[in-house]
Amino acid sequence: MNIKRIVVGAYAVNCYIVYTDEKKGFIIDPGGDYDDILKFIKEEDILLEFILLTHGHGDHIGAVKNLINDFNLPLYVCEKEKSLLNDPIINLSKSIPPFKPIQLVADVWLKDGEIIDFHGTKLKVIYTPGHTVGSICIIMDKNIFTGDTLFRMSIGRSDFYTGNYDEIMKSIKKLYTYDDNLRVLPGHGSESILKFEKEHNPFMKNIKI
Ligand SMILES: [Zn+2]
Ligand SMILES: [Zn+2]
Repeated sequence: MNIKRIVVGAYAVNCYIVYTDEKKGFIIDPGGDYDDILKFIKEEDILLEFILLTHGHGDHIGAVKNLINDFNLPLYVCEKEKSLLNDPIINLSKSIPPFKPIQLVADVWLKDGEIIDFHGTKLKVIYTPGHTVGSICIIMDKNIFTGDTLFRMSIGRSDFYTGNYDEIMKSIKKLYTYDDNLRVLPGHGSESILKFEKEHNPFMKNIKI
């Protein structure tokens, strides 16, 4: 599986385009800069099949409507993110650049532990609330897409609408139980390895299982 990272929008969101050698793909967190996303898809001739969100914040959803309009793609989001996703105040789209209110409804509401089969590759949904009430991480092969739950050497904020510090710490503890060798692909900033985070991330290193 090929993974292309494109950094988009005012908050430098990592949008990931995941695609097979046959150029069948899906996109995670298309947060903005639709022209950059479109350029890559066209150049590589990728046929996108769906959009997957780690959570519904404005900086992660800015190009969702463009993609739906142009490619008629279904949107996959955690079932717990329903009300946030459809509210431009709670999802912050109204209050962060480019200040365009966004309301979305998913086509597929994901549940904890659900497996999405993508041409034989399994995408496992891990429910990790705390940054928002419907935040998820996705495990695919040796990769984990962690959205704004886990960053290299940090974790996501829990002081936005529906955020909760105790919940995100429970989620971080849950992530601690996964394989050391997982490559961490976060929603912002550079990638990491889960073992490195377990040893050095100040929010993870003191966890005892
Ligand atoms: Zn966020
Ligand atoms: Zn974000």
